[in-house]
Amino acid sequence: MGWDFETDDAFQVELDWIDQFVRNEVEPLDHVLGSPYDVKHPHFVRLVRPLQQQVRERDLWACHLGPELGGPGYGQVKLALMNEILGRSRFGPVVFGCQAPDTGNAEILAHYGTPEQKQRFLAPLLANQLVSCFAMTEPHGGADPLMMQTQAVREGEHWVLTGEKWFASNARLAAFFIVMAITDPEAKPHRRTSMFIVPADAPGLSIERNVHLARPAAHEDGGHGHLRFQGVRVPADHLLGEQGEGFAVAQTRLGGGRIHHAMRTIGQARQALDLLCRRALSRRTQGDLLAHKQMVQEKIADSWIELEQFRLLVLRTAWRIDRYNDYRRVRQDIAAVKAAMPKVLHDIAARALQVHGSIGTSDEMPFMEHILSSFVLGLADGPTEVHKVTVARELLRSYEADEDVFPDYHLPRQRAQALARYANVLNESVPQA
Ligand SMILES: Cc1cc2nc3c(=O)[nH]c(=O)nc-3n(C[C@H](O)[C@H](O)[C@H](O)COP(=O)(O)OP(=O)(O)OC[C@H]3O[C@@H](n4cnc5c(N)ncnc54)[C@H](O)[C@@H]3O)c2cc1C
Repeated sequence: MGWDFETDDAFQVELDWIDQFVRNEVEPLDHVLGSPYDVKHPHFVRLVRPLQQQVRERDLWACHLGPELGGPGYGQVKLALMNEILGRSRFGPVVFGCQAPDTGNAEILAHYGTPEQKQRFLAPLLANQLVSCFAMTEPHGGADPLMMQTQAVREGEHWVLTGEKWFASNARLAAFFIVMAITDPEAKPHRRTSMFIVPADAPGLSIERNVHLARPAAHEDGGHGHLRFQGVRVPADHLLGEQGEGFAVAQTRLGGGRIHHAMRTIGQARQALDLLCRRALSRRTQGDLLAHKQMVQEKIADSWIELEQFRLLVLRTAWRIDRYNDYRRVRQDIAAVKAAMPKVLHDIAARALQVHGSIGTSDEMPFMEHILSSFVLGLADGPTEVHKVTVARELLRSYEADEDVFPDYHLPRQRAQALARYANVLNESVPQA
């Protein structure tokens, strides 16, 4: 039997250590430091670097990576259990070397990069000496990548990029960008684009402005850049993967990225549920605890049920990734996780907010932040609608159309078949008692 819902004892020891370490050493940083991606900031160097060193010594650094890339390679299930804890904290992922979008960028550099690209860009990225940015979305529409307009034209030993990118996270802090651009406009739609590595100081690349999420300034997120490429020249060897392979490269990074977000979302949703329960047991109205009101109990029950359902889906998807080692085989699972994730976080955080009353709406509680995150999760890496379409499309592949107007599952037909099958028994005369 292959079903198992237990964590092995040795790894549970690690999870307990991570839980305490995040609670005592990492979560306090969330209140005093700016962006987790501002790796050159003196406060980051003083406060975050020593914690990263402790994580390395414990062999928990960059757990999304296999040993060939300097990680322990524990697999996605164990990573999920870790990320559930790290997801509670803004600084959790960076202290453990597994923060998006660097994880996804590292994944494609490892997969498609040349030895020179790996040495120059991947090695310092894995060590968190620098951070990176992924620039695919464009201002006129991101949900449909076939609408992309940014072009890269080959001129001698260079590629020349012209166009705009939008909502490129951490652009202002990134040392390099991974940029998707059209190289073969006449090719079939999914063979038109290629991926490029563009150093941040490349002439002609500018940040028009940084857009910030509607959240308290204390929760600075590095911003999301509106980028302009005006004849940006990069050497020919800055092409990442083969020409025309842009979509394939993008898919490689997005599969892992989406499931990692889901793992961290469990942590945020659980935090909201914990606070909901504590408030319900602490606050009184009409002479009774909120916890004794049935409508509050319903909120608690619904939240727990939704969280556990989601967690099981995430863990099973992680298990399937480990098992098949092929993102294409888990496409439907990942799309389902991606589509479910915003609603789970939104609904649990909204109930926690409601039960906290007025203070729940304020910036003195984390619920508005969770709710904003839920919308971000429903957009970044593609809108929920698009992922639901993927789930339905993949599911429909295993079905066929019925030719007959009254198909074989039509109840009268099934009944007629059953009557015919058992006719000899049913037609026997039954002796009267
Ligand atoms: C916080 C954050 C960080 C991000 N970081 C990055 C990044 O680092 N790099 C990057 O390249 N991009 C990034 N993005 C952009 C993200 O990928 C896009 O927002 C997303 O793909 C949607 O594109 P859009 O915003 O242009 O919305 P649009 O394409 O204009 O879509 C708007 C809405 O239309 C609806 N819609 C779209 N398609 C369909 C459909 N097929 N069926 C039904 N309804 C549909 C949905 O409701 C969708 O939300 C980030 C976004 C956010 C919010």
